[in-house]
Amino acid sequence: MLRIEGLSAAYGPRPVLSDIDLHVDAGETVALLGANTAGKTTMIRAITGTAPRVSGKVLFENKDITALPSHRRVGRGIACVPEGRHVFRDMTVTENLVMGAFHRRTDFEESELKACIELFPRLGERQHQLAGTLSGGEQQMVAICRALMAKPKLLLLDEPSHGLAPLMVDEVHKAIGKINKSGVSVLLVEQNVGSALKIVDRGYVLESGRLALSGTSAELQNNDEVRRTYLGI
Ligand code: ATP
Repeated sequence: MLRIEGLSAAYGPRPVLSDIDLHVDAGETVALLGANTAGKTTMIRAITGTAPRVSGKVLFENKDITALPSHRRVGRGIACVPEGRHVFRDMTVTENLVMGAFHRRTDFEESELKACIELFPRLGERQHQLAGTLSGGEQQMVAICRALMAKPKLLLLDEPSHGLAPLMVDEVHKAIGKINKSGVSVLLVEQNVGSALKIVDRGYVLESGRLALSGTSAELQNNDEVRRTYLGI
């Protein structure tokens, strides 16, 4: 579904990603792991079309989308839950969700909003509340559902558990499992390596902008370097 080939990116003269190859197959949940500043967000931005690209290719469903503007990538089926959530603070929960369907230029269906509330019942109780007044976890739910309203084939999530209490991390990770079961492929950026590896099929580890390791979730959980560096075992 998604194939990154030889991707390098830089901010000005400073290289941030060097020659990365990775892929996400249809139906998979894949983690992109790594410490602070490894380049994970930059990789997400390269896929959404908002990062400066130096070289390489981004292919989606076998088509080269490297030069495609962001809004057209959304139209092809790529939606993103950005780091820091970026909800529209002065809009209600429902208004935020409706914004997620904006690019479709057709009316969204009530059933789509209902599906969001089934995923996160708490949003049902908060439909008319301004998103800026929600807790961090609730804002994360809004950001996830706003992305789902775009009806993506591939969902990119950038550190959805950041700053959340452990119970909320569990709820968000369970929801990611349900989203994947509903047929959406997932690329999950996480610093929370232990819990991320429990919910993904495969993972890639970035170190200082280079791909250091990749493997199935079981392989990474049993890898000595991953255990020592990221799991503290
Ligand atoms: P974190 O987990 O802290 O979010 P990350 O792995 O997502 O880190 P990036 O956000 O991709 O890493 O940042 C990689 C490097 O690129 C960092 O050194 C960062 O300072 C730099 N960087 C990120 N955005 C910009 C920017 N807009 N301009 C200049 N440098 C940037």
